[in-house]
Amino acid sequence: MSLYSIKMRASQKNKHISGSEKIISYDHIGSYANQLMQRGLNHPKGSPDLLNIKIEKIENNNILYLDALPVCTIEVDNYRMGIEEIRKFLNSLNLENADKIVNFLSKTYSMRGAILLDVDTLERLEPDRERGIRATYMDAERTNNNVSVNGKNHYAEAIVLATKVAYAPNIIGEICISDDPDYVTGYVASKSSGYKRITKMKEQGSENGGRIFLYQGSKNDVAETISFLEKQPVIVRNVQPLYMDKRPTDKFKFIGDELIDMRQNNLYRSMKTIQSGQSSTVIYNGREMLMMASNDYLDMSSVDEVKKYAASVLEKYGTGSGGSRLTTGNTVIHEMLENKIAEFKNTESALVFNTGYIANLATISSLMGKNDVIFSDELNHASIIDGCRLSGAKIVVYRHNDMEDLERKITVNPCRKGLIVSDAVFSMDGDILNLPEFVRIADKYNLLSMIDEAHSTGVIGRTGRGIVEYYNYICEPDIIMGTLSKAVGSEGGFVCGKNKLIEYLKNKARGFIFSTSLSPVTMATSLKSFEVIEKNPELVTALHDNVRFFCEYMKQKGFNIHSETAIIPIIIGDEKKAMEISEWLFEQGYFISAIRYPTVKKQSARLRIALMATHTPEQLKEAADSIINILRQKEVFI
Ligand code: PMP
Repeated sequence: MSLYSIKMRASQKNKHISGSEKIISYDHIGSYANQLMQRGLNHPKGSPDLLNIKIEKIENNNILYLDALPVCTIEVDNYRMGIEEIRKFLNSLNLENADKIVNFLSKTYSMRGAILLDVDTLERLEPDRERGIRATYMDAERTNNNVSVNGKNHYAEAIVLATKVAYAPNIIGEICISDDPDYVTGYVASKSSGYKRITKMKEQGSENGGRIFLYQGSKNDVAETISFLEKQPVIVRNVQPLYMDKRPTDKFKFIGDELIDMRQNNLYRSMKTIQSGQSSTVIYNGREMLMMASNDYLDMSSVDEVKKYAASVLEKYGTGSGGSRLTTGNTVIHEMLENKIAEFKNTESALVFNTGYIANLATISSLMGKNDVIFSDELNHASIIDGCRLSGAKIVVYRHNDMEDLERKITVNPCRKGLIVSDAVFSMDGDILNLPEFVRIADKYNLLSMIDEAHSTGVIGRTGRGIVEYYNYICEPDIIMGTLSKAVGSEGGFVCGKNKLIEYLKNKARGFIFSTSLSPVTMATSLKSFEVIEKNPELVTALHDNVRFFCEYMKQKGFNIHSETAIIPIIIGDEKKAMEISEWLFEQGYFISAIRYPTVKKQSARLRIALMATHTPEQLKEAADSIINILRQKEVFI
């Protein structure tokens, strides 16, 4: 298909009013000719007495395609600083006579075209000094999403021109100031530095504009340069929309701003470095602290039997798994763990993921898609929320653990395929899902049911088997997700359910397929840990006893707290206050986290006390006394 150059020029008594050019296909000649004509005839600068439209066919194999110069903006306060930026640009091109080159700008003011300046001899090379050099035969590539074809896009036209000039033989750079009195932004450009907009290059209201093409090379090649600039058809690709150049020159600015913002709002987070293994006490800053913030509820990460078995697997299998499960990263230990999880959870099958977070992301996003609906509890964990978002399904959030609200929302959101998903034990509130109702509703409306057992596995139910045991096996959700990083004391996430579900996830869950599997030693830790929990149900009982003891003690002292899980939240509200309380307790030797937005809603900051099976009654009593002391000081009443 042939292309055509179409140019318009409008003038009044030889004074230029408007000009534009495009490279277009045959089919568009009529519409563009009309547009350009309208523009020339109705220009704010005045009504032309001459309007010239020139249409020329271009040989396709003669067109040069170039990528647009990258754009950045240099913000300056006044035009003097703008001129200083031009000097800097010239210095960056290793030109010694920057000042003299800048002075040439004033000589361009009356010209329509550009000065072609030999940067070494400062000789003007354009054959006609009044006319100057005019770069023509160029346009931006027209795609569906770039520059508008209607109206004049000064910005895009300038980038097209600068790109063509930058690629001309022997041209090392360009300086341009607009002659539009209201447009004070100019630019410098070169192949190496790209297109740099300088926000002020002249005084507002000044008509003094012009451009200089910087030439460096032999005189013999000048004709070739001029021919390229004036005759070579060029189409420039990837001209970015205008907003792209609004980026600040400091690309890290938004990061700095946001960090300051977080600090000001008491939402800044930092890490504490622990100098010991995880257990009910840890060493921090050389000092022993009582750990009351860990999810290692059964204190499994320091159990000798688990460590010994893990060491033997490490010895035999080494450190890494070498590939994803579907390639080389699947060992007998991986499969033994999955069999153990399925048995522990009383399901047909199980699949291990690298973290609980990934398990939720991968599972939800592989089961649900664009045309589906997911019903999600408002207090669900971030990994569930992110999984729902990744799926692209419609997300309907229902009130926390409110089964009537859930059912109401299901009835008004019909779908062909859907999922209801909830934490089994809510991670920041410690309360338990109404599972029988949840499953009944899912089955009634033929929706898949999914629960996250991160904080219930090893914690609730008489033997720690989780929420299904807690409700005496009267109901069974379709998808049980959990993590190995909490009461199991290791790492990894899992999903269990019917064979068919697991077979599907192995083939569809991207977070499973495209990630190197956990090492055999990590798998072994979880495997042995489950065996220890199975053999020692008294561990779970000890955790339950500790929770009961702690809550009773606080109640006796007038603080109405309650939990059936290992998580005991004490709601403070204000973020700053919560931080101060937690810092004070820290000083006293208690490791207790203050939980803030975005983990919980704004103004619902809290202490999240997490108990372990191995805390002693003395430790709990002393901790409770300290907590009560600071709550009273800070006038927090529950
Ligand atoms: N779900 C819930 C409810 C959680 O609390 C967590 C961990 N905070 C996860 C999933 C993610 O598990 P993991 O830490 O193994 O990535």
